[in-house]
Amino acid sequence: MISEINVSSQERYQLIDITDEVEKIVKESGVKDGLVLLFVPHSTAGILLTENEKSLKEDWLDFLKKLVSGFDFQHNRIDDNADSHLLSGFIGQERILPLKGGQIIRGTWQQIFLLELDGPRKRKIIVKIIKD
Ligand code: ZN
Repeated sequence: MISEINVSSQERYQLIDITDEVEKIVKESGVKDGLVLLFVPHSTAGILLTENEKSLKEDWLDFLKKLVSGFDFQHNRIDDNADSHLLSGFIGQERILPLKGGQIIRGTWQQIFLLELDGPRKRKIIVKIIKD
């Protein structure tokens, strides 16, 4: 089965916790064991697993901004978001998580985030559950 989560970002760079929405879809699917594929059909966003702690989220966004600062990107001459595309590819536009006994296996400090890199925008996260 396939579902989608829709979110609206407010900032250019932003982390949006989608853990509850993903877990709700998994629960409603009734699938107990398998894989959960998360995918963003966007080239300026990503999926990231990290701790939902305010200062760590700020650290992530500061770190990512610094990674792409100081370059003269060619894409910025036609569309001012080369940084967004590069970080999206770098972080990744998909994640696969194991599902066991109806629960996604993840660490206590592994929440699931949409990483917005060119907001504010409306974003879609595709959730595909693959049964064992
Ligand atoms: Zn672009």
